[in-house]
Amino acid sequence: MPTVKNWQLGREMAYPYEAKYPARQFAFVFNTNRCIACQTCTMACKSTWTFSRGQELMWWNNVETKPYGGYPQNWDAKILSMLDRQNPGGQVWDAQAEGGPYGVFRGKTIFEAAQTSARPEGARVLGYLPTDEEWRFPNIYEDVARETGTAEPAPRSYPQRAELPEHATWFFYLQRLCNHCTYPACLAACPRKAIYKRKEDGIVLIDQERCRGYRRCVEACPYKKPMFRSTTRVSEKCIACYPRVTGQDPLTEGQPMETRCMTSCVGKIRIQGLVEIGEDGAWAREPQNPIYFLVHEAKVGLPLYPQLGTSPNGYYIPPRWAPRPYLRQMFGPGVDHALEAYAAPSRELLAVLSLVRATQRIIHRFEIQEGPKVFEREINGRPWAMYNDTIIGFDKRGHEIVRTTVEEPIHVREARHANSI
Ligand code: SF4
Ligand code: SF4
Repeated sequence: MPTVKNWQLGREMAYPYEAKYPARQFAFVFNTNRCIACQTCTMACKSTWTFSRGQELMWWNNVETKPYGGYPQNWDAKILSMLDRQNPGGQVWDAQAEGGPYGVFRGKTIFEAAQTSARPEGARVLGYLPTDEEWRFPNIYEDVARETGTAEPAPRSYPQRAELPEHATWFFYLQRLCNHCTYPACLAACPRKAIYKRKEDGIVLIDQERCRGYRRCVEACPYKKPMFRSTTRVSEKCIACYPRVTGQDPLTEGQPMETRCMTSCVGKIRIQGLVEIGEDGAWAREPQNPIYFLVHEAKVGLPLYPQLGTSPNGYYIPPRWAPRPYLRQMFGPGVDHALEAYAAPSRELLAVLSLVRATQRIIHRFEIQEGPKVFEREINGRPWAMYNDTIIGFDKRGHEIVRTTVEEPIHVREARHANSI
């Protein structure tokens, strides 16, 4: 099997195909601290793409409650257990080693574990097919909390205290869609070569004409984001709203626009963009690109289960209150730095976070204009100050598309009628 460089793991890894990278890559950052699980994103996606017969249980975007929820049920616990069985006690990170931003992952990825597993000869990826029952409850265990120190869900009364750095009774929302991975497991597993990664933006698509519905992608994707449609007998998955991302929406005059799930986000947790990819698959340095800044400069956005090896392009700011060991197994060793940086954000980070959901257009570059100090206090024993800086976002042509301030502007609407609702 050829080897490719996986920067998230800090090392080379086995992958069934030679490395090939797009010019730019679709990527997103979600701030889990802000999500209210309103499911507006879920319904925006469903009402756009999966409202037809045979798609009833198909949720390309879903928001699940961790630790118990999952769509399909237990998707992450199942694949992590399978990997552990292949490499008992060996699925560990060396966070101090030189390699990538999170150190080096010493365990086996789903591609490497497939070589030693008892899977059928020629299986390229370690995976499993969820049962029909597991697909049936997209929001099972919604808002069910866990009490640290017990294995059972906490009683609804939440008897324990909730204080940082870790709540004794906790849950959080995990927003999920296809990660348009750099090394897609779905693509690697397809015997028909029906899955491809677009060279202009790295979006991963299933060719509906070539697909024969073998479900090898459903089995291989560790995030379980390709889904089989019984009425057409082929698989479907998130298409990253590519007509919007390529600027085919007439409202934007040919300029790239974020996806439906991003732009509808009520909690203002989502920002999506396109990052430039270098020759070795790593991101080219673009410190003024908001996505690059959050992932590589501030290092608050972390990949979801990077140890699986697909190099997912969805990044998450972890929830501040959940137990660190749980978060480290989910987002890797970068969790502690990310939470420290998020709890007392630098002046630049606070400005960039203010851009999240300030526009529906894709921001390629930002600039900050310094404003006055408006607030100061101590955080974790250290002085911290807030400045009312102005942040400006530009599109790919360099035109200004958004301008906002760190202190959220307040707009008072004139009440025209007795009932102003
Ligand atoms: S998340 Fe799954 S379906 Fe999406 S690109 Fe990665 S492997 Fe393929
Ligand atoms: S729309 Fe935003 S806040 Fe609402 S569930 Fe989706 S990600 Fe969370």
